[in-house]
Amino acid sequence: MPLAADSVAQRVATLRERVDEVTVASGRKRGSVAILAVTKTQPREAVVAALDAGLTDIGENYVQEARDKYDGLPPCTKHFLGHVQTNKAKAIAARFDVVQSVDRLDAGLALAKAARDAGRRLRVLVQVNVSPAERFGAAPADAPALAARLRAEGLHVDGVMAIGPLQGDVDAAFETARDAFERVGGTTLSLGMSGDWERAVRHGSTMVRLGTAIFGARPARERSLA
Ligand SMILES: *Cc1c(COP(=O)(O)O)cnc(C)c1O
Repeated sequence: MPLAADSVAQRVATLRERVDEVTVASGRKRGSVAILAVTKTQPREAVVAALDAGLTDIGENYVQEARDKYDGLPPCTKHFLGHVQTNKAKAIAARFDVVQSVDRLDAGLALAKAARDAGRRLRVLVQVNVSPAERFGAAPADAPALAARLRAEGLHVDGVMAIGPLQGDVDAAFETARDAFERVGGTTLSLGMSGDWERAVRHGSTMVRLGTAIFGARPARERSLA
């Protein structure tokens, strides 16, 4: 059972407050860390509830899942978080405003072409791999060159995204992501999920991606995929 809209609103309000507290405690400006609602496996009503609660950024991992669910929503920014398959580039560029998961040249080139063909200016982040358990992500050392190449192709490369490790040296992983962000440039370091967002904010995250913390636990089948 998805959470009722008023519980989503309650959770968003509490999270907004806590994110601001940690941001200020880290010496940064209140409001400078955005909350992205990760809506995978959630029904459209949950997405609407998150937007009604004042969030403006939403994200999905699969193009297919965003179909219908993301059509005709109130104004918001739609982020693609999943692995970019080149044969889906056109659909991704048509449906999303920001692609956070560009981790290799062929995916970026396919998105750049799709955006050009559609006459859209697409914002992207370079996904860097900072965890041995993660399958995807560019090597952090390769991120600046990849970003430069994609900018030359007309993509608006606005920073870095990374998925932190579940165990091991999380601080070192987050520092690696932050360092890659500083070298890539842009305004967005997308770092931190429900289990590790506080630490990510302390390491300079400007956007935390929250699913479970906003909507409650996902069905077990999907959790094992993600
Ligand atoms: C699922 C997912 C999240 C959100 O995970 P939670 O732990 O539920 O907050 C964030 N980022 C990416 C890339 C994801 O796939």
